[in-house]
Amino acid sequence: MGFITSYTLQELREKFEGLGLEAYRANQVMNWIYKRLESNFQNMTDLPKKYREILSEKFKVHTLEQVEKVIASDSIKYIFRTWDGHLIETVLIFERDHLTLCLSSQIGCAVGCKFCATAIDGLVRNLSPSEMLDQYLLVQKDVDQRIRNVVFMGMGEPLANFENLKKALYIMISPWGLDLSKRRVSISTSGLIAQIKKMAQDPLLREVNLAVSLNAPNQYIRESLMPISKTNPLEDLIKTLVEFPYPTDRRIMLEYVLIKDVNDREKDAHFLAKLIAPYRRKFKINLIPYNPDPSLPFERPPLERVYAFQNILRSYNLSVFVRISKGIEVFGACGQLRSKRLAIMLK
Ligand code: SAH
Ligand code: SF4
Repeated sequence: MGFITSYTLQELREKFEGLGLEAYRANQVMNWIYKRLESNFQNMTDLPKKYREILSEKFKVHTLEQVEKVIASDSIKYIFRTWDGHLIETVLIFERDHLTLCLSSQIGCAVGCKFCATAIDGLVRNLSPSEMLDQYLLVQKDVDQRIRNVVFMGMGEPLANFENLKKALYIMISPWGLDLSKRRVSISTSGLIAQIKKMAQDPLLREVNLAVSLNAPNQYIRESLMPISKTNPLEDLIKTLVEFPYPTDRRIMLEYVLIKDVNDREKDAHFLAKLIAPYRRKFKINLIPYNPDPSLPFERPPLERVYAFQNILRSYNLSVFVRISKGIEVFGACGQLRSKRLAIMLK
């Protein structure tokens, strides 16, 4: 049994030919799956009955199973079970005029950021391209409005799962696939320099939006929060980002999680501003107030401090946004849950 979403159109055409079906039938099936969100081959009425039977025997559409759905005022969190029994989360966020889907790229994460709950159990495994696509398909089936924006900010470090991510993105932006605009797909990384350079060389990946979790104004604080900074120093990271081959009208998003008394002081804002100001046209900054986790010793700063931080950055003419989500307060930030915790929650 194969998952149909693990194939590109070309691969599926070849696969169909191998099974004695005409290649163009693969285009029809792709259309059913990605445009009409059909998951039962028996309902694909423009295929001969015999073909529908062959396909039902050989393939499955969904690899994930929904086990929980938590609705908040401005978001919905979905918890899915993988074929081998792990739990992952996907969050649908209602923005002012559109929907954004926050996808997971791995089960757990090996990067080990001190403030992040996903890091606690380390990496369990990478998600396959079909597991990434299926998060989209299952959520899209559940809501009426088309989901046009996708961010890889859920569990895991997307650039540490490079090849699978690349294939999933290819299917997401292809006209025969999800047909999403490249400009509406974002990848968030903790700042793995070698992988960002690889991304810069890749004709597909360098077209999507890049977001980088900076989280600190200097090397010292960054190393204490994100041990990968030892081998991916802040100065080299900024240089790599400044050299990233974006057209002049595109900016890299720097994410900065504000943690009380750790990186939210006035002097931190000034340091950060001075670090970024020379390249202000290359970046925009997203301030995310920390979402506390019972097993971690960090706290969220008061909102006044968040806005004071933003104002300091603005005084250096930087573009700065603050992201606060009610839903995220209710059930945890996108990208900060861990599989074991999810399992306990469900018991
Ligand atoms: N691994 C990637 C993407 C997933 S994490 C990355 O690190 O960029 C997505 C974002 O959630 C990151 O910017 C991370 O810094 C942030 N984050 C993690 N834990 C958080 C928490 N408890 N509160 C707020 N943001 C958090
Ligand atoms: Fe991994 Fe991102 Fe969490 Fe760091 S913040 S541990 S990179 S998921």
